[in-house]
Amino acid sequence: MNIKYEINRLKNEKDACILAHYYTLPEIQEIADYVGDSYYLSKIAKDLEQSTIVFCGVKFMAESAKLISPQKKVLFPNQEATCDMVNRVDMDKVKELMNEHKNGVLISYVNCSTELKAMSYTCVTSSSAQEVISNVKNKKIIFVPDKNLGGYISSKFPSKEFVLWDGCCCYHDNITSEQVTQKKLLYPNAKVLVHPECREEVRNLADYIGSTSGIIDYATKDAKDEFIVVTDVGILHELEKTNPDKKFYELPINCSSMKLINLQDVYKCLQDEEYEITIEGEISLKATEALEKMHKLARR
Ligand code: SF4
Repeated sequence: MNIKYEINRLKNEKDACILAHYYTLPEIQEIADYVGDSYYLSKIAKDLEQSTIVFCGVKFMAESAKLISPQKKVLFPNQEATCDMVNRVDMDKVKELMNEHKNGVLISYVNCSTELKAMSYTCVTSSSAQEVISNVKNKKIIFVPDKNLGGYISSKFPSKEFVLWDGCCCYHDNITSEQVTQKKLLYPNAKVLVHPECREEVRNLADYIGSTSGIIDYATKDAKDEFIVVTDVGILHELEKTNPDKKFYELPINCSSMKLINLQDVYKCLQDEEYEITIEGEISLKATEALEKMHKLARR
């Protein structure tokens, strides 16, 4: 069986569109109709013509697509693909934090559960965070769940007070300044491109800090032809495809959940139309409101 041919056939038969994040396997990015970062994918979902979305990434992303486009059938090919940072948030402790800081407004990184989105005033992605927060009037912000992204954003808003949840992406947080410095010694002409989920000591070594799409844009437009890329290795597929004459050096950031969905999963998902994402009731309305507010406040 030619699996790519079969996926394409089923896609047309079932009026489906495949969305994939830049951190997924190269073969998944290749069969996807649209590849992007969380912000792009959350925006595009609702404008698609097709009635079914097959979402390749991790579960919270497929849930966001469902929230933004409730009238569509959203299928998620592998239930095991969940985000470790999202799973580690203790909702009772979030409520405690909100009680402790009653004058604060809860803002969540889009990498969080639907339940947490529903409790939030708004959400942010790494590419929209600065624009969104510059349009939030409250002085005190309770930021959940990534302390590294929260720390980075807080440095841009010295007049605001940030209360940061003590969570992080274990893959990005694992990278140290020593590892980046070692790479820099090997490739002294390369520019360092860093995702804001990395620690401050790593961000301090960056020539550019930004989201996955920001990193791709920067590397594509920049005159340099060598880059040290400090985010998930999945991004190299798009970087190398778009910039065949440039060189990219990776750090050991490789999110296993993002690599779980394979071609067989996508084929089965389309064939059996599972697993369908369902989110109902008040939680769905409130979480959608937080996501829509993000798009409104980001003003793009
Ligand atoms: S890279 Fe980190 S934040 Fe993104 S899905 Fe994997 S564990 Fe979660």
